[in-house]
Amino acid sequence: MLKEKRNFVIKNGVLGWGVPFWLIMVLWRSFQKPGDGIFEFGSFDLKKFLLESVVYFPLSLIMGYFYGLSMYRFWEKYKKDRLSKKEFNCFKCGSIISLNETKCSNCGWSWNK
Ligand SMILES: [Zn+2]
Repeated sequence: MLKEKRNFVIKNGVLGWGVPFWLIMVLWRSFQKPGDGIFEFGSFDLKKFLLESVVYFPLSLIMGYFYGLSMYRFWEKYKKDRLSKKEFNCFKCGSIISLNETKCSNCGWSWNK
């Protein structure tokens, strides 16, 4: 796998999506009162947190990996489309910038630092 691709997938998919998903999911469930399932800060259950992490942690990482992969494909296609057009949208204000510019003429945003 390409280094750039691997980094993208790990950063955006696994760390950016998988890990927060696991944390939110398992923490939420660990704070739920047994029985009625009401969220309550006092009813944090460490055992439940650890037990469910065993299942949800690898699952979240795997889902994050595939999510990252599909994001990468989307990003690659987006880049290719833009490169063929020799222009892209400013990430900050959205105005169109041609590829040979290094700064947005509208808002001054620069990406070649
Ligand atoms: Zn701009």
